[in-house]
Amino acid sequence: MGQIVVLDQNMVNMIAAGEVVERPASVVKELMENSIDAGATKITVAIEDGGRKLISVTDNGCGMDAEDLAQAFEPHTTSKIKTSKDLQAISTLGFRGEALASIASIAQVRAVSRRKDSTSGNSIEIDCGNKASVGPASSDYGTTIQVRDIFYKLPARRKFLKTANTEMSHIIEQFTHIALARGDLDLTLIHNGRELYRLVSQQGLRQRISELFSSELGENLLDVENDEKGVHIFVLMGRPSDSRTSNKFQYIFLNGRFIRDKFISHAIKEAYRGSIEPNRFPVVFLFIQMPYDDYDVNVHPTKIEVRFYNANLIHSQVLGTLREKFLSTDLQTQAKLPTAVSSAGAEVPTAGHRSREIADAMAEFFRKHKPIPTQQQFTREPVDAEWMAKYKVKDIKHETLQPEGKFIQIHDSFIVAPTDDGFIIIDQHAIHERIIYEVLSKRIRESKLESQRLLIPESFELTEAQIDVLKSNAELIEKLGIELAPFGPRNYAVQAFPTLLSKVVPVDFVRDLIDLLVDKGASFDAQGLLDEVLNMAACKAAVKAGQKLSDSEIEQLLADRKKTDFASRCPHGRPTTIKFSIAELQKQFNRT
Ligand code: ADP
Ligand code: MG
Repeated sequence: MGQIVVLDQNMVNMIAAGEVVERPASVVKELMENSIDAGATKITVAIEDGGRKLISVTDNGCGMDAEDLAQAFEPHTTSKIKTSKDLQAISTLGFRGEALASIASIAQVRAVSRRKDSTSGNSIEIDCGNKASVGPASSDYGTTIQVRDIFYKLPARRKFLKTANTEMSHIIEQFTHIALARGDLDLTLIHNGRELYRLVSQQGLRQRISELFSSELGENLLDVENDEKGVHIFVLMGRPSDSRTSNKFQYIFLNGRFIRDKFISHAIKEAYRGSIEPNRFPVVFLFIQMPYDDYDVNVHPTKIEVRFYNANLIHSQVLGTLREKFLSTDLQTQAKLPTAVSSAGAEVPTAGHRSREIADAMAEFFRKHKPIPTQQQFTREPVDAEWMAKYKVKDIKHETLQPEGKFIQIHDSFIVAPTDDGFIIIDQHAIHERIIYEVLSKRIRESKLESQRLLIPESFELTEAQIDVLKSNAELIEKLGIELAPFGPRNYAVQAFPTLLSKVVPVDFVRDLIDLLVDKGASFDAQGLLDEVLNMAACKAAVKAGQKLSDSEIEQLLADRKKTDFASRCPHGRPTTIKFSIAELQKQFNRT
């Protein structure tokens, strides 16, 4: 006898549930989305034991009559699409008609619902796919769906559930997605009887972010909007100083749906390139509105990925919008002085105590920025003023340095200069790096770097593999203004070298350049690789920490800084300047 049988529908649902229902958080997502599709303006989510015991979602949406209530838990039943044409422009969050059937196949479910125009409600219970008949039940209008003991008949899956805390953090994440996507809804999340979030519809997005994350983050966000070719983008973007060590804080929404998209993530990363350190991630809340038929959501069971028909347009629009905002914003790092202890019952701080705190903070700052003991001759390398004037200088704003000569260099590494409303501390290496980097990249964008022939060509030895790398990067090397010529077997000589890097030893530079090309050549596109090379060049050519500068050198540095884009950060994204405001100091010294 044959071994193959057709699975019964309940088995089919249980297997399908594996795709839709991964853990309690997936149930929360599906149920909340159903409530939104039902036109609810108020949704309450109540959880017990991280969702292992109970997940309950109550809404004030359109509700279901007895017939729909019985139908909703059958597989492939939906009210959201009728014909295949509807699939081309889906405006609801759900449409696959499998969530309720899947959920009801792996837990005990009770649903109570009443349509607004009806005087009585109905309820239904389903225990792992076994459905009881629909009966009358008293209910407010709207729908409540309760899901108990998820996976209780599937011990293997139940075992994979994590602690209540972990499951709860996944639930909070899903709740957060919806709360951000739909600022117009009243949303409440309760765990074990305790209210975790109560978000009201009129609060505005920024306030909502403050409540979901922290008020510091909410207040610090920059906002920017852009409308182009039918695509509307609204972004609340973190400052570089708010960057995180994980990319979790990138929330992308497309027409009210939370999505992940590698093109958009790439655009965000590009936009922050050079403003934050490479191993950190920006905080971004990005909202895209565009016609439903310009993308496909039917490419992933949980609909978290979509396919844009014009991904390049979205990429360039996101990148352009964020970048433009950066260029018009003052991104300097504000110094955070220690707050004086003053609350009742605490030790009454003395003036000595407070100034010691400040002294400690300063000492800590300088300890972290210990000078590297290298010495290198630094002669003035003024930025070509006329040439620079062609470009509008952005980033450093609202700051007027006090008249000439009023600055000091400390620890041969930092420059302290008074400003109109306080003072700044500048990291001499970091700022010089940025200055050189900007000049190099602007020149290279225009054509190639100007070079100068070496009187005595310097030769060096290479492996065959390195020679290959040189050949395949010939165009890049030419753009840099470096001229190399074969000089005997496996030997090359540097014939010409960029004028702007006259302080760098040519052979050393070329060796490091080849190493970099070997190391990183494969993992970057042409632009990224050029950027890495310019970073390296700027770092090598810049004045070092621990290097004594003359007054005129410092003046030059300060003058060049004013003319340079993105001067608040070095090309690796570290701050170049820290601002101290006089108001803050006065507060610290109890002068206000
Ligand atoms: P889908 O959302 O893909 O249509 P579901 O299985 O999630 O599939 O839901 C099936 C149907 O049940 C929905 O199309 C909708 O008509 C109805 N439904 C589900 N939840 C609710 C709710 N909270 N309020 C009103 N109707 C609902
Ligand atoms: Mg649904």
